[in-house]
Amino acid sequence: MTNPANPSRISTDIDFNRDGKQVSNLIIPYSRNQSAWGSLLMPIAVIQQGKGPTLLLTGGSHGDEYEGPVALAKLVRSLDPQTLQGRLIILPTLNYPAFQAGTRLSPIDGGNMNRVFPGDRSGTITQMIAHYVYTELLPLADVVIDLHSGGSSLEFIPSAIMHYLEDTTQMDQTLAALQAFNAPVGLILEELDMAGMLDAAVEQQGKIFLSTELGGGATVAPQALQVAEQGLHNLLQHFGLIQSATKPAATTTRLMEVPDGSYYVMATSSGIYEPFYRLGDTVTAGSAIGQIHDFDDLLRQPESLLVRQSGILFCRRVQGQVERGDCVAVIARDSKEVL
Ligand code: CA
Repeated sequence: MTNPANPSRISTDIDFNRDGKQVSNLIIPYSRNQSAWGSLLMPIAVIQQGKGPTLLLTGGSHGDEYEGPVALAKLVRSLDPQTLQGRLIILPTLNYPAFQAGTRLSPIDGGNMNRVFPGDRSGTITQMIAHYVYTELLPLADVVIDLHSGGSSLEFIPSAIMHYLEDTTQMDQTLAALQAFNAPVGLILEELDMAGMLDAAVEQQGKIFLSTELGGGATVAPQALQVAEQGLHNLLQHFGLIQSATKPAATTTRLMEVPDGSYYVMATSSGIYEPFYRLGDTVTAGSAIGQIHDFDDLLRQPESLLVRQSGILFCRRVQGQVERGDCVAVIARDSKEVL
C-alpha cells in the first residue's frame, strides 16, 4: 500500500484491509548514538468489520494533552469489532516522542506535529510521522478526528472544533458532525495560522475534519475525558459505524464561533498574569480581562489587558507567568450558523 513515488520510511505489520482488531506499532527508523539500528515503536490500532466508512482517530499530536489519548486507548480496549460496520484507524500518541516526554513538542527535533504537514519522508522524526499520516493513512480515511486539549499552557471549555469552510456541502457535513459530537461547546474557529496543520491537509482533500479542545493544564480532567469518550461514541453512531438500540440524544452543544484574530488576547508585556474571569464567564468589549504584574518595579501599576470583543471566556492561559506575545485568553461568541 506504500506510495511508490514517495515511499514512507515508516513500516508496520498492520493489514489495513483485514477484519478484526489489530494492535501493533509503526516502526520509525531512529538511528542514534545509543541505538545504532534502533527504531521508535509507535502504537497503532486498526479495528475493522465489513464495509463502511473509515475514521482516522488521533490524539497526542501535542505530547502534553491527555484526554484524547486516554479516551482512544479506552476505545481500543473496549470496542468489539463484531459491533462495528467500517474501519477505525487509531493513533493515540501521534507525536510519540513528545508524548513520552510529556512535552508539547518533540524532544528529538523540536517538531510541532500540527505545524509540519504534509511532512517529509527524509526529514526529522516529526516530519517522517506527518508524511506517513499524509501519504499512507489520509488516503484511506473518510473522516479525521484529531483530539487536542489545552496542554501545559492553556485551558478550554471542553469543545469540538471545526473551521469555516468554503465548500457548503463540506461545511454542512462537518457542522453536523460537530453537533453530533455533542460537547458542551461546538466551536467554529478562525485559526491565527493554519500553515502545516493536519486540519488543513484533510480539509483541502474535501474530507470531514473535526478537532477538539478538552480541558487543559496537562491534566486528565474527568469531565473533559467523559466528553471525549461520549463524543467518540456519538460520532461512531453518527457516521453509521455502530448501531445502537437507543437513538442518540438531541444535541445540546452550544454553537459558538471565533471569527477572527480580534477574539484572541495576547500578553503585551512579561510578568505575572492575574486573570479577572473564570472559563465560561461573560466579558464585554473594552473591559479588562486581567492584568500583568511587573515584580521588578513594585510601584508600577499592573498592565491591563483589554478584550476587543464581547462574548464568553472560552480559553485561558493556565500559568501565572507570561511572556509578551503569549495567548492569555480566547473569547467566543454565539454562532448564527444553522444546518
Ligand atoms: Ca493542541
